[in-house]
Amino acid sequence: MKKFRLTICVLLTVISMLLNTVCAFASTPKNSGHLDSIDGNKVSGWAWNSAAPDTPVSVTVTVANSHTGESLLSEIAEADIERNDLKESGIGNGAHGFEIMIDWSSIPDDTYMIKLSVNGTALPLAYQYNTATKIIKNATLVSLGTFKTTAYCPCRSCSEGYGRLTKTGTQATASRTVAVDPRVIPLGSHLLIDGVEYIAEDVGGGVKGKHIDIFYNTHSETRDHGVERSEVYLIQS
Ligand SMILES: [Zn+2]
Repeated sequence: MKKFRLTICVLLTVISMLLNTVCAFASTPKNSGHLDSIDGNKVSGWAWNSAAPDTPVSVTVTVANSHTGESLLSEIAEADIERNDLKESGIGNGAHGFEIMIDWSSIPDDTYMIKLSVNGTALPLAYQYNTATKIIKNATLVSLGTFKTTAYCPCRSCSEGYGRLTKTGTQATASRTVAVDPRVIPLGSHLLIDGVEYIAEDVGGGVKGKHIDIFYNTHSETRDHGVERSEVYLIQS
């Protein structure tokens, strides 16, 4: 039995290596970047395009409230600041740093999702920045494709009599709880839908396949939501 498992493990590793190679070839232009630090109002990072290693790229930094999805600002900067650490790490000629000033004091304390785009193409990265604790958490965004989204509330008809009690035993909370088909999205997953971070912590009789049911406090809000289609990202921390 152990030997069998080992064989599967080796097979899976080989398959994932092959897939990575294919993806690496498919993903031109080769944009990459990173948000390094937030020091007071100064947001620093780097970005480049490995296909044009000595040409500066333009970086767009977007900041959105991670509970409401509300977009707060979008700043464009030229990533052309010379940095020895980048040069030493083989990032082109090293002149790929950027700095952007964000006046956090004008924004209420909360968790914000910061995303970077290079020459207009979004990087599959997100940074969750808590302005109260000053902690930055890095995450990789993996698109799961386009899903149908609907809405439910604690009312008897929406919640099938469960009220706010979710499948995972938590209290359903607006702007956090979604119901998923656990065969498609594992319970406990963190998801980004229209700029809002949700947790897959519930299931529903009618939630099958590429369908996500978003929790709201009131039935009128579920009616307002209706049926939509949105790209869903898995947030891998
Ligand atoms: Zn309802």
